[in-house]
Amino acid sequence: MQYRIVRSDRKTVALQIHEGEVIVRAPRAMRESEIASFVKKHEGWVQKKLSAQEKSGGEPPLSNEDVRTLADRALEVIPPRVKHYAAVVGVHYNRVTIRNQKTKWGSCSGKGNLNFNCLLMLAPIEVLDSVIVHELCHLKHMNHSKAFYDEVLRAYPAYHKWNRWLKEHGGALIRRMTQR
Ligand SMILES: [Zn+2]
Repeated sequence: MQYRIVRSDRKTVALQIHEGEVIVRAPRAMRESEIASFVKKHEGWVQKKLSAQEKSGGEPPLSNEDVRTLADRALEVIPPRVKHYAAVVGVHYNRVTIRNQKTKWGSCSGKGNLNFNCLLMLAPIEVLDSVIVHELCHLKHMNHSKAFYDEVLRAYPAYHKWNRWLKEHGGALIRRMTQR
C-alpha cells in the first residue's frame, strides 16, 4: 500500500485518508519500519475507508461548455469584488484575468496583475473572497510572512475558516477539471 509520511513535532502516529491518498502523520523520530508496521496493522481500516470514498464518487466532470460558463460568470463576479477588497487592503492593482487551471486558485505578478481560477465559482463566495484578499495582500507583502497574514486577517477576519474549506474541498473541484 502506498502512503505519504508527514513528520512533525507530534507525539503519536495517526492515519488519515484525504482525497484517496493515505497520509501517515508521525513524530519526527519514528523509524520507517515502525511506521510501516503501524500502517500494516491498520490496513483493513484503510481499505475500507478508501473504497467508501471511491463509491461516493464526487461531482461529475465539467464539460468545455461548463468551464466556459464558469469563466463568463467569473468575469462578472470577480472584478467588482477585487475592486472592493483592494480598497479595504489599500492597494492598487493592474489587470484581473480569469484562468481555468489545475494548480492554482489565484496568483499575482510583480506588475500588479491578478489571476483567478474560474473553478472558484463552484465554491462558496466566502472562499472566493478569501482568495482575492490573499492575492491582494501579496501586493503589499510578496511572501507568506506573519506581516502578510496579519494584513490578510485585518482585511478578511474569517480567512482561515474559508482557506480550510478550500484545502478540504478544492481537490475535488480541480478533479472535475482534469477529466477534460
Ligand atoms: Zn500566497
